[in-house]
Amino acid sequence: MDKIVIVGAGVAGVNAATKLVDNGYDGSKITIIDMGKSPYERLPEEVMTGFLGAGGWSDGKLTYHTSIGGQLSKYCGEEKAMELMDQVINNFKRFHPKPEEVQCSNPEEEPNFIKPHFGLRLFPVWHVGTDYLHEIGKNWYDYLVDNGVHFIWEHKVTGIDFEKNIITFDNHDYPKMPHKHPYDRLIFGVGKSGIDFGKQLAEQYDLPTEPKAVQIGVRFEAPQKHFQKLIDISYDFKLYRKFEDKGVSLRSFCTNNNAAYVAAEHTYDDVSYNGHAKKDEQYRNDMTNFGILMEIRGIDKPFDWSREAVKKLQVEGKGMFFSPSHRVPSKTSEGDYVKVEVVPSMDILYYALGDYALYIEDFIEDMEKVFPTLGKDWGIYMPEVKYLSAEPVVNYEDLSLTKYNNVHFVGDALSARGITVSGAQGTYVAESIL
Ligand SMILES: Cc1cc2nc3c(=O)[nH]c(=O)nc-3n(C[C@H](O)[C@H](O)[C@H](O)COP(=O)(O)OP(=O)(O)OC[C@H]3O[C@@H](n4cnc5c(N)ncnc54)[C@H](O)[C@@H]3O)c2cc1C
Repeated sequence: MDKIVIVGAGVAGVNAATKLVDNGYDGSKITIIDMGKSPYERLPEEVMTGFLGAGGWSDGKLTYHTSIGGQLSKYCGEEKAMELMDQVINNFKRFHPKPEEVQCSNPEEEPNFIKPHFGLRLFPVWHVGTDYLHEIGKNWYDYLVDNGVHFIWEHKVTGIDFEKNIITFDNHDYPKMPHKHPYDRLIFGVGKSGIDFGKQLAEQYDLPTEPKAVQIGVRFEAPQKHFQKLIDISYDFKLYRKFEDKGVSLRSFCTNNNAAYVAAEHTYDDVSYNGHAKKDEQYRNDMTNFGILMEIRGIDKPFDWSREAVKKLQVEGKGMFFSPSHRVPSKTSEGDYVKVEVVPSMDILYYALGDYALYIEDFIEDMEKVFPTLGKDWGIYMPEVKYLSAEPVVNYEDLSLTKYNNVHFVGDALSARGITVSGAQGTYVAESIL
């Protein structure tokens, strides 16, 4: 049996390991290394790292459609993609202390009142909630450890020698003498927190890559009552609009309700915003937040363009907040105010995005028409960004690099963009190994 090393104990890596041991793979041949902590040690503010990665501290909305998030059916076909996502959702239920509480929202018809301004994507979403995810994480981790899987926590992988099949990771005792660990097969699932590392490897090994579109926008927040009519139809509603001729499309992204919180994300030393929701009634704040994300095609060097735009929205380690009705930024689930610089207008967004900011302003104006009580009772956190660095070209049958076929890229490292797709990619790779 191959010695497998999984870099990143995120959703993708953990689902891969689970599929392997579920099917009799010797757990002692699997090592998972992560720069974050085990689910027993991980702190609430450690949003991106540790067991289940960004998914472990997220809102746990498990979307069940191949058109949402990154590409999955491209690799394995539509039917297989749905079956893989089923497996991921079942894992979340299987380790859930109260699986009957996982709710599924499944809207079937586009409501008339949002037309003609918006379309609504209709697909089922399973909702787990942040608080239960912590318990799921512990049960899931125990299962893997009981099956012999070896975890190395709080160590960052700093290099991979694809030629010699060796990973290098930091040595806390002797920083100048990093640890080395050999592998026969490597699963690379470093998520968004490891995006720099993926890029570095792509450059170092001159890996062929696929270009990506820019994905940038704002996190919108308002009292939930204004959106209740739509939430009743679809909990994680996805409003969208397309300007085909301009190469621009916009969508509302990752909607949180009831106990909805905005979270700051740190990527490349910059701050951007995202959101999550708690299930426990004690956290209820009756707020709604979601991203308004704009996809822009045809920009030369989209990654550099996005980083440049994000940089223009930073001040002293914070992003920016604007509310036309002078709402104050909300509090995090830990009770502190979201760290953000309040600005008096949306001009700064135009400074960062140029005329593309107009699409976002229009989107908000049209929401004011569709949700009549909304008015100016809203605020936006700037920016929300999805860095889609050019993804390496992989073999479709097992997501292995075309240059090194014992190295598999999975999850957000392969632009998966979401829990179910990331987990499904990990499962897919595990199936190919089995
Ligand atoms: C606040 C928030 C809320 C979200 N809510 C949702 C949601 O409700 N639904 C949804 O579908 N998606 C959501 N997402 C996105 C989702 O969490 C990710 O798409 C998913 O977790 C990606 O899985 P992954 O395994 O690729 O990476 P991750 O889950 O991010 O895991 C990557 C792991 O790799 C580790 N790592 C990185 N670099 C290194 C290194 N050099 N050495 C060692 N370890 C390393 C990290 O510590 C991390 O644990 C949310 C994300 C955030 C930040």
